Amino acid sequence: MAVEKIQLDNELAHAAAKGGAFLFSPVGERRVFCPELFSEEQRSFYKTALEFAMKRVLPQSEAIEAKRPGVLPGLLKEAGGLGILMVDIPEAYGGLSGDIVTSALVAESQAVQGSWTVSFGAHVSIGTLPIVFFGTDAQKKKFLPKSATGEWLFAYALSEAGSGSDALGAKTRADLSPDGKHYILNGSKQWITNAGFADVFTVFAKVSGDRFTAFIVEKGTLGFSVGREEHKLGLRGSSTCPLIFEDARVPVENVLGEVGKGHKIAFNILNMGRFKLSVGSAGAMKNTLGLGAKYALDRKAFGHPISDFALVREKLARGAATAYAAESMGYRVAGSIEEALAHVSDGSKNHAFDMMRALEAFAVECSICKVMSSEALHNLSDEVLQIHGGYGYVEDFPIERVFRDQRVNRIYEGTNEINRMLIPGMILKRAMKGELPLMEAAANLDEEIADPARLLPNAQGRLVPERRLTEGVKRSFLLAARAAVAKFGTAIDERQEVLAALADIAIDAYALDSMIARTLQRNGDPQAGLRDALCRFFAAEARDRVHKRTRDALAGSLAGDELSGALRGLDVLLPYVPQDPAALREAIVPAVLEASGYPFSY
Ligand SMILES: Cc1cc2nc3c(=O)[nH]c(=O)nc-3n(C[C@H](O)[C@H](O)[C@H](O)COP(=O)(O)OP(=O)(O)OC[C@H]3O[C@@H](n4cnc5c(N)ncnc54)[C@H](O)[C@@H]3O)c2cc1C
Repeated sequence: MAVEKIQLDNELAHAAAKGGAFLFSPVGERRVFCPELFSEEQRSFYKTALEFAMKRVLPQSEAIEAKRPGVLPGLLKEAGGLGILMVDIPEAYGGLSGDIVTSALVAESQAVQGSWTVSFGAHVSIGTLPIVFFGTDAQKKKFLPKSATGEWLFAYALSEAGSGSDALGAKTRADLSPDGKHYILNGSKQWITNAGFADVFTVFAKVSGDRFTAFIVEKGTLGFSVGREEHKLGLRGSSTCPLIFEDARVPVENVLGEVGKGHKIAFNILNMGRFKLSVGSAGAMKNTLGLGAKYALDRKAFGHPISDFALVREKLARGAATAYAAESMGYRVAGSIEEALAHVSDGSKNHAFDMMRALEAFAVECSICKVMSSEALHNLSDEVLQIHGGYGYVEDFPIERVFRDQRVNRIYEGTNEINRMLIPGMILKRAMKGELPLMEAAANLDEEIADPARLLPNAQGRLVPERRLTEGVKRSFLLAARAAVAKFGTAIDERQEVLAALADIAIDAYALDSMIARTLQRNGDPQAGLRDALCRFFAAEARDRVHKRTRDALAGSLAGDELSGALRGLDVLLPYVPQDPAALREAIVPAVLEASGYPFSY
């Protein structure tokens, strides 16, 4: 009996721990991981990494942006000397075998200067992780210790001039040499971060023109060269160049993973890239909010600091609320991955491989966080530039660079359009496989609409209207998904506008669910009132976004009486609750101004 119970508990925990499960369990039912649960060790690692970024990287921002030779690679090597590059590398190969929370904290800590952030990420994440996850023992022994210390710097080459989103459409080919000792690579890669100084590249090419495969290509390989630097809108200090392969001879022992299985490497690395981009963007949001708050306090107009004006204060309130949401989502994913690791681990001690499988389980959340945080950072940097007035438009203030630098976040690690297709696509696929109870939940929907009190039975305590809204948002997803699946079946792939609307609903559902669950866990917290206010502000705006996007999805799937009925149901799920915008805002802004930025710290 006891054994059965334990097994059942494990199964339940496992089911709840699956990616996409947030749509099907009430907000706050399960404890979510959040910054307040960081261990002392994690905080201390973050502080060390942050100190390096603030004291060593930021003061060299001008030299980095001018691409002064040696500065950026020199800083990477310096970071290696301090142990900041080695979190994701197994101990056996000179690393720390760190947990994913520490890895995320390091990514966030380095989000102080865009060119640095992307170069750091390309080295530790997409550059090195293919070998961590898929390398042979010999490859790991050869490359990882040197990545850990920064002695060798790494890059990742998937995109080509003719194929970015359509990565499997790559044209670069690899042919086995007659003596079977080398692959001969021909073709080119485009937009490769760190290319100008990297020593080691993960390069994707098609063996015999059709079997997509990853190779480790070392600098100095005969027939391999790096093209000229791109001149970019932002990230001007980072190196971005094409790679050229003209009969480049890559030893067969440098094949990474299996021939013909390169797509597995490419897609799994993207999950980690998306996750780290999202926590990095959350960190950048907090820094950007600081730029806005400080400027608003300093600048005077009409005899007042501009921080007195409601329209400036509204921007700060929105920035704080979205940063709190992004932070809550990113670290919840980190905690979910850690939890899933306990389930996927088969005891083989292959932690890296287990980590990759755990990341795959939460690929939906990785995409959700990537889209949300890149767009939230975009909007915030735009608003903080606006707070700077004309001074936001000139180079003397850092917001000008921040605005240019952040723009690319919506383009790489899968464009936000591609991620928007993936989010509902993965949820629906899991539901079809019986891994998520979408059909069962959709079957209850009409009864819930008829008796909306069932959405949040016996609710009491804090944030009741926002918790109810969160349940309504999840049901809005079900309402729209049910209509779309009934109308289009598997042909839903061809209705991108409906998929994108579903993605947007899922993004707000995850944001609300994460920030509210985190907030409710904080009993007795002196900042509880502020946290509640951040949730209320975000929820009020999310309600309107979700109402619109659900209408879009329904109108794309239904017509006539069916559409009218569904829209009436939507109004029940997401009732309009009038709120005074000044009151919502003023519950937040004094704390932002007092902290001169984001009002919480680790
Ligand atoms: C600064 C910078 C650094 C980079 N670093 C690297 C790196 O280190 N390594 C690397 O491999 N790559 C890197 N990239 C490349 C980046 O990953 C690609 O630019 C990105 O994947 C988009 O590909 P693309 O530019 O070919 O655009 P395309 O794929 O041509 O897309 C163009 C537009 O069409 C849309 N689109 C395309 N397909 C679809 C579809 N099916 N449905 C709907 N919309 C669609 C896209 O969303 C986009 O808006 C970098 C890019 C930049 C700008």
